[in-house]
Amino acid sequence: MTTGSRDPVRGRYAPSPTGALHLGNLRTALLAWLFARHASGRFILRIDDLDLPRVRPGATDRMLADLRWLGLDWDEGPDAGTGGPYGPYVQSARQAIYDAALARLREAGLVYPCYCTRAELARLASAPQAGDDAPRYPGTCRHLTAAECRAREAAGRRPALRFRAPDEPIRFVDTLHGEQTESVAETVGDFLVCRSDGIVAYQLAVVVDDALMGVTQVVRGADLLPSTARQLALYAALGYPPPREYVHVPLLLGADGARMAKREGALGLDPLRERGARPEGVLGMLAARCGLWPSGEPVTLDDLLAAFAPERITIESTAP
Ligand code: GLU
Repeated sequence: MTTGSRDPVRGRYAPSPTGALHLGNLRTALLAWLFARHASGRFILRIDDLDLPRVRPGATDRMLADLRWLGLDWDEGPDAGTGGPYGPYVQSARQAIYDAALARLREAGLVYPCYCTRAELARLASAPQAGDDAPRYPGTCRHLTAAECRAREAAGRRPALRFRAPDEPIRFVDTLHGEQTESVAETVGDFLVCRSDGIVAYQLAVVVDDALMGVTQVVRGADLLPSTARQLALYAALGYPPPREYVHVPLLLGADGARMAKREGALGLDPLRERGARPEGVLGMLAARCGLWPSGEPVTLDDLLAAFAPERITIESTAP
């Protein structure tokens, strides 16, 4: 589908069901909902469950129930009663769609098989010249001949697929972080679009899904800001119009100042509900910590939406 600037806003929240949503996830969901509804847009809920080994049984139902408890609603999503024209809204049911995108990249010569093992990549990561972030892939497998590929496969190695990073810098504007420029070839180099176990990489799945679901507004945690240039390179390679708006919202930090992690059982709604918390109280607390509701008093979603002003969002904040 093509999206012109006059088309209505379509925002989304795309959690991974690897555990219960913690307060940081809930705040990102709240902000994504506020941005979409503030623009009179539609709101889509998608379940990013591609990494099946990390998916926890029952987590999706709990996530939906927690989002509903806060009062959030969505127009298209995975649950009965919503549905929508661009489903399925669950990544694990979209494999054929990703395979088609991979085939297009392959036909265009934009991907190549990579036989590097985890251990080989880990050695790169620990090399003295490697920075703090994931190291740049040096292109070890970029120029393998067909015979070299066959030899590796005969030795039992299964390839991952890497996308040839474009040399030219990628520019985009983030509503909160301003203008961004990144040369993917220099920062991460050729990056994975499919792992050697056949699981499609997040970068590709999110682009295919957002594009085919007509998403125009991507609101998500600031930890994903460094992924955006890679994703825009994939939009261009696949000929999709990119989202019109990116907003990378501040992460809510735990009481210890560290990033909250679902798998580590960071504070979610259950303990708060056990202590009698009500949705308005949680909304007030979440919104206070990013500058949207300075008093921190209980507030309804309607009142938060009426008062919503993106320019008031502040950067870091800690959980209770
Ligand atoms: N599924 C990702 C997560 O839970 C978010 C993907 C995105 O918003 O692009 O962190």
